[in-house]
This record gives sequence, C-alpha cells and structure tokens, in this order.
Amino acid sequence: MAKCPECGGNMISRMKRKICETCGLSLTGSEYDKAWDKIREHTNDDAHHRHRMKMEYLKWYESSKKH
Ligand SMILES: [Zn+2]
Repeated sequence: MAKCPECGGNMISRMKRKICETCGLSLTGSEYDKAWDKIREHTNDDAHHRHRMKMEYLKWYESSKKH
C-alpha cells in the first residue's frame, strides 16, 4: 500500500495518479517516488535501502561473472 509522503496516510491509485485519502495530496508515480527519495535521504531507511541495493548488486555481479 502506498503511503502519503506528507501525512503518512493511505494513498489510492486513480487515473495514473496516487491520491492521499487523508490530506488529498495528488501525485504522479514519479512525483511520488521523488517525494519519498527526498524523505529517505534524511532517514535511516535510506541506509537500509542502499545496503539492500548493494547486496543485490553484488549478487548480480557474482552471477554475471559466470557467463
Ligand atoms: Zn496525505
């Protein structure tokens, strides 16, 4: 379930946009991603995310070496 970057409320998808049920914020998919990217820059979640991305990259790198 998508979460509102402004208030943390549930966001519903409508006409290719995400609309917050709580505050009425309306974002496109890319606006939504950007908004969360901005927030994650300042949170520990981002560190976890980067760590996970790095692990996935390493996995991919390891498997691609076999070819
Ligand atoms: Zn909201």
